[in-house]
Amino acid sequence: MKRFLCCVLCVCVMLACLPSAYAAVPALTPDASWSVLVPASPTAYERFAAQKLCSVLSEVFGASVRMSSQARAPYIAIGSASEADVSALRDNGYRICAVDGNIHIGGTGVRGLQTGVYRFLEEFCGRRVYTSELTVLPAARQIEVPADTDIRYEPYFEYAETDWRTKNIEEYSLANGLTGGIYRSLPAEAGGTVRYLAFAHTMRWICETEKYRESHPEYLALHGGVRTAGQPCLTNPDVLAIATKNVLELLEKEHDPTASLQIVSVSQNDNYEYCECDACRAYENAHGGAHSAVVLYFVNRIADAVKAAGYDNVAIDTFAYQYTRQAPTGVFPRDNVIVRLCTIECCFCHALDDPSCSRNAEMMRDLRDWSSICERLYIWDYAANYANTCLVFPDFGVIRRNIQIFYEHNVKGIYEEGNFYLPECDTEFGDLRMYLISKCLQDPYRETDAETDGFLAAYYGAGWPHIRKAIDLYTLHAGDRDGHLGIYYSAQDSMRLSNRDVAVIDACWARAKATPAAAQQKARIERSELSWRFWKAGTNKGEFSILNPDRFAEKEKLFEDLQAFGVTTISEGADGDYLDCVCIRYAPVERWNGYEADSESAQRRARFGAFLEKLMPILTFRGFFYRLLCQYVKKGI
Ligand SMILES: [Zn+2]
Ligand SMILES: [Zn+2]
Repeated sequence: MKRFLCCVLCVCVMLACLPSAYAAVPALTPDASWSVLVPASPTAYERFAAQKLCSVLSEVFGASVRMSSQARAPYIAIGSASEADVSALRDNGYRICAVDGNIHIGGTGVRGLQTGVYRFLEEFCGRRVYTSELTVLPAARQIEVPADTDIRYEPYFEYAETDWRTKNIEEYSLANGLTGGIYRSLPAEAGGTVRYLAFAHTMRWICETEKYRESHPEYLALHGGVRTAGQPCLTNPDVLAIATKNVLELLEKEHDPTASLQIVSVSQNDNYEYCECDACRAYENAHGGAHSAVVLYFVNRIADAVKAAGYDNVAIDTFAYQYTRQAPTGVFPRDNVIVRLCTIECCFCHALDDPSCSRNAEMMRDLRDWSSICERLYIWDYAANYANTCLVFPDFGVIRRNIQIFYEHNVKGIYEEGNFYLPECDTEFGDLRMYLISKCLQDPYRETDAETDGFLAAYYGAGWPHIRKAIDLYTLHAGDRDGHLGIYYSAQDSMRLSNRDVAVIDACWARAKATPAAAQQKARIERSELSWRFWKAGTNKGEFSILNPDRFAEKEKLFEDLQAFGVTTISEGADGDYLDCVCIRYAPVERWNGYEADSESAQRRARFGAFLEKLMPILTFRGFFYRLLCQYVKKGI
């Protein structure tokens, strides 16, 4: 016993000594007395970055922080006024360091400095721009910056874009590093946007296939023995001349010489009607038998013409998509050609390099092959369920790892296609997903677990741990019977949950809703719960069980709640297709957009459903036991 007490005493003494042995690094403590030091004649980038810094710091301290070109310590120096040596950093990188009691932020390229300022605000002020409407900024009399601070950053990707369309997205994009220009136009003094002047599936108009259908059928793809305007014949020199002319004309009109990068996509239309003429086949056969060979041949020549015309900040983009996903041999993309490899066929609950996933193995092979021949490989990735967008898309387990894999394979740009019809269908975790993806595009190796918790706490309020638990369970049980998850999956295939799991997740949502929260947070909980209710309705689980006599009313209530939250479409194919079906109460949720109001099939379905509902009283005995079971399960958890 004595020996034991001795040991305890020794451990206590050691612990008491620890603080002195590992003394914390002293911190600089900027407060409202500090100024932001700028050069006497600041550039537009320096002025923008300094103004942003002053404005947010003033908000943090509750007192005005001034900008000055007079070096009176202590200060936070910006750009060329700083002592941060950024000469070794790639374009759009930054350095934040503490030197002699002052702080210095320097940046390279067009957006390095402002990115550095936003990082400073995030790192040391705890500022988080979670959505375009939700920014967290803790007030403080002073902030702490360790005296040995030296943060160096170079961007992982030259192009970063997500696809959740929301309003007022500029500040969100600057804070979270989104540079793509589909939905945003960032000010030039903040680095501007990387714009696609033509974005996707552009062969139809660039090659004018429809126009020449009659006069020059040889310009069109020969597919299945017939000429089709669905794709052009890419080895026909006249087609190349037409496409080159159209690309140069587009650049003449829309080129911005001050932009860091502009891109014109010369990419296959969204069908499989590739050309099988003798010349195209011969070229493909000579280059690994890959359809992508002839596309590269074509795009390379357009890229040469663009370069020869002096467009140094322009790149020509094309797809490695579906039938062109396989890389060719013996033909290489020019340095101003971007190949966008698309992951549409992949599984999204296994990481791309997960050896247990047979579906992703081929994509990994194509990724490796392209990365070995392409200096400017981009990715078109997917992060939503396009057949049933109201459902949870349980891919949270792979978001970060997949972006790491892309980076590790020399990928330079990523477009994460998501729910681009968000304003018509916002039930899923769109805001969380967009935030996490943005953060991983900024730095694929950053920690995302605490970041997720921080988001959830701000977004849903104090009940957030229950929602986190639900998300973790979705992720754990994601996938179909074989464990895979596609982007066109039914509710049944997207998650495998037992009745017991359903009861546990129901309780998570119930507890989250029962926790006091602000009105906006409560509304967000109800909105996000719609995706869970939609899943249950699609699988006849929980309150939608066929044993529950009230299931028809539950479905109608779900429909009303969806409408109350502005949901007017449930899938990509039905974009803009209103949920006005007369048989909402009786039809499977995944087929709601399959019935037109007043159509014969809708009326038949409604008559059949009404008959079933009338039949229900006979089943009330079973319903009674169902309710009893529900009570038991709820008590049991
Ligand atoms: Zn051809
Ligand atoms: Zn899989």
